[in-house]
Amino acid sequence: MQSRRDFIQKLTGSVIALQISPAVIAASCNSAVTHYDGPVLRVAIMGLGSYGTRVAEAMKDCKKAKLVGVISGTPSKIKDWQAKYNIPEKNCYNYETFDQVKNNPDIDAVYVITPNALHHHQVIRVAKAGKHVICEKPMSINAKDGQEMVDACKKANVKLLVGYRMHFEPKTLEIIRMRKAGELGKVLFFQGLCGFNIGDPTQWRLNKQLSGGGSMMDIGIYAINGARYMVGEEPIWVTAQETKTNHEKFKEGVDETIQFQFGFPGGAVASCLSTYAMNNLDRFFLDAEKGYAELYPSTGYGPIQGRTSKGELTQPHVTHQTVQMDEMAGIIFEGKQPPVPVDGEEGVKDLKIIDAIFEAAKTGKKINLKL
Ligand code: NAD
Repeated sequence: MQSRRDFIQKLTGSVIALQISPAVIAASCNSAVTHYDGPVLRVAIMGLGSYGTRVAEAMKDCKKAKLVGVISGTPSKIKDWQAKYNIPEKNCYNYETFDQVKNNPDIDAVYVITPNALHHHQVIRVAKAGKHVICEKPMSINAKDGQEMVDACKKANVKLLVGYRMHFEPKTLEIIRMRKAGELGKVLFFQGLCGFNIGDPTQWRLNKQLSGGGSMMDIGIYAINGARYMVGEEPIWVTAQETKTNHEKFKEGVDETIQFQFGFPGGAVASCLSTYAMNNLDRFFLDAEKGYAELYPSTGYGPIQGRTSKGELTQPHVTHQTVQMDEMAGIIFEGKQPPVPVDGEEGVKDLKIIDAIFEAAKTGKKINLKL
């Protein structure tokens, strides 16, 4: 099965495909929901790029959520999606007209899947139109913008959820269950390695105006978020070191490689790596007094594979975005509480940490965190 990194690498012409292991494709169980006759979350996707397409395909198997609308600046893409997903004309918008979604009773939520720096104003506009918002990670490009998005959604009385698909992944959730049940004992150490060799230097991911940074915003955020849900605490300090081998490709403000460390209130420490210049990095390792847990690959599209000191993790592979969208419908309509939050506040915590990592890398100082 193709990982997201493979996809970006192929798209951008890189020759080395990230093959973490000769993946044994586990049985795919695309939706945990077998029978459902409750309300269906009717979603419009904003940004019909590579990840938007993946979400649309995954939503075909959803029981509680349905793709019903699109927002795009490219008329030909809108036509293609209309034909492919049976989307009526009245549910199609562009970036100038999408505030009118306000008057559309057939759309409940907008899923924002555009370049990172656009999320802030797009989410606020959707909130003002009175629709629930799902926003891709990183929720925005700094904590201040993220907090403004949270505030706007609160004010408009709409839900804001962030596309943290790993929060619904079965092997990840099993490790979290084991840790919470005390089966691993006191957590001592986490290692998160996240990276891939990025291709095309002209893509938006390497343009600070659109990306807000480099590898940290895109892939390092998985190690940050993962450190928090694997350790089960919020970090209280961070240190970071940046290295750059290609100043032409990774311009000022676009990080190529950052190593960073966290301290947690319970005494655990974390050591993480975020990079756009190395392959084969998609691994989480948690060490605790009574055992360990490892995920490798840990955050790709799957199958996720892993083991703990008790043996292999055997939970089935799921299509992450299918389960995520069904679960998000449950959060919006039924007030379900996921084991690891996916709300705007969760997104802001990661952004506060990213702000601190950038500051630590720049100043060489240990930065204290209050999340
Ligand atoms: P992409 O380049 O494939 O798609 C981006 C889309 O936004 C394109 O359709 C593009 O036309 C549109 N767009 C609108 N305004 C634009 C502008 N001013 N400049 C450039 N493009 C513009 O990117 P993607 O990989 O789909 O990523 C989109 C978002 O999804 C990012 O925030 C990314 O971090 C996130 N993402 C999340 C995951 C995940 O696993 N959760 C995976 C991939 C991407």
